[in-house]
Amino acid sequence: MQTQILGLLTPMMALLFAVTFAVFWRVGRMKRHVLGFGLGYVCFAVGYLVTHFLPGDAFYTFHTTQLFYTLGVTFFLGSACERVGQKLHLPSILTIYAITALVLALAINFTNDAGPALILVNIGYGAMYMVGLTTLISARRRELTDMAIIFLIAFATADFFIRPSLSVMFEQTIPAGEYQQSIYYSLIGLVLGVKNIMGAMILIGATIVEWTNTLRESSEKDSLTGLHNRAAFEEAMRNIIPRAQTEGRPLSLVVADIDHFKQVNDIWGHQSGDHAISGFGELIAKMVRGCDTAGRVGGEEFCIAVWNCPNEPAERLAERIRLAFTSLKHEGLNDDIRLTASFGVATAHEGETYEQLFARADSALYQAKSKGRNRVENAEVQGLEEAAPLEENEPIELKRVAEA
Ligand code: GH3
Ligand code: MG
Ligand code: MG
Repeated sequence: MQTQILGLLTPMMALLFAVTFAVFWRVGRMKRHVLGFGLGYVCFAVGYLVTHFLPGDAFYTFHTTQLFYTLGVTFFLGSACERVGQKLHLPSILTIYAITALVLALAINFTNDAGPALILVNIGYGAMYMVGLTTLISARRRELTDMAIIFLIAFATADFFIRPSLSVMFEQTIPAGEYQQSIYYSLIGLVLGVKNIMGAMILIGATIVEWTNTLRESSEKDSLTGLHNRAAFEEAMRNIIPRAQTEGRPLSLVVADIDHFKQVNDIWGHQSGDHAISGFGELIAKMVRGCDTAGRVGGEEFCIAVWNCPNEPAERLAERIRLAFTSLKHEGLNDDIRLTASFGVATAHEGETYEQLFARADSALYQAKSKGRNRVENAEVQGLEEAAPLEENEPIELKRVAEA
């Protein structure tokens, strides 16, 4: 009775982990590899329950267990690989399973001594884990959580190769009928328990890290264009500008604003306006380098921090984007309509803050607007400085809303 209850502990734990991953996947709207880990644990639990409840000396018990374990291993390794953008080579896993099952069926007398069969299947799993391990090692991503998963799989690989041979060596023969009383069975219960907990802790930890990263990224992203939103862009700039200054690298800022955009909304509707904004965002994302930072800082206003880039090449980049935008088609607008945008460029001066740099680029943009739009103006060429603050009581001539 006691062994029955203890034996149930491992599969129950595996099922609990399965539920945990399923909840993460569902509630956190996470990618399918998270569900894959859950399904892996379900297969491990079923495999374990089969061994525990079906007659130990039956050939089919052994084969059903191996089938579920193999499915579990495939889900687990496949998901770990997919997590880092790799693909597990399924034909290799299938070949290893087929060879193991065939040798088991044809060449090993299972009833007298389960030892050789156990060594064989474990070597099979070791080989499958090896396939997963080499795929994971070839992935480019190497964050701390990725390293922990690689360590977990390397540990499991070594365990599959070493433990069965050692325990069978001590035990000599394991009659299949007495398998559940063997040292091997007690040891595997213990090892599986430890591996289960250690593995689940690492995987759950990695999943939590992944979840918080996704949450952070989505809170920093502009939902229409996928670029940084204004707050995230400004936050990024507060790091980029001092970094450029300490590293002695030039940093340029390009500000862009779509021309006569109000009319787009008025004539074709807000939704078509949204398509135009996202089209411009996509174009910018495509035309800047990975080291640049682009954001949507207003309704139809965008900013690009061009890393390690002096003034002239930054102006040329703005000119290329301007030209590309003039030939971009927009969903919802008449086929013959093309939009334009105006650009301002400025390059950071020594000791300049983001606000000062932005104000100069924005002044250049204002110049581009007033000179007829669809053009690039350069603050460095014009020597534009930040607008002087208003003197107290200085008269201002702003158009009244009613006059506008
Ligand atoms: P200008 O050439 O001087 O830039 O003219 P403009 O019409 O583009 O002027 P302005 O920048 O003042 O107008 C921006 C308009 O963009 C006003 C607002 O209705 C619209 N807008 C702001 N955010 C969004 C958005 O998210 N979607 C859509 N469709 N329109 C937006
Ligand atoms: Mg505009
Ligand atoms: Mg605007």
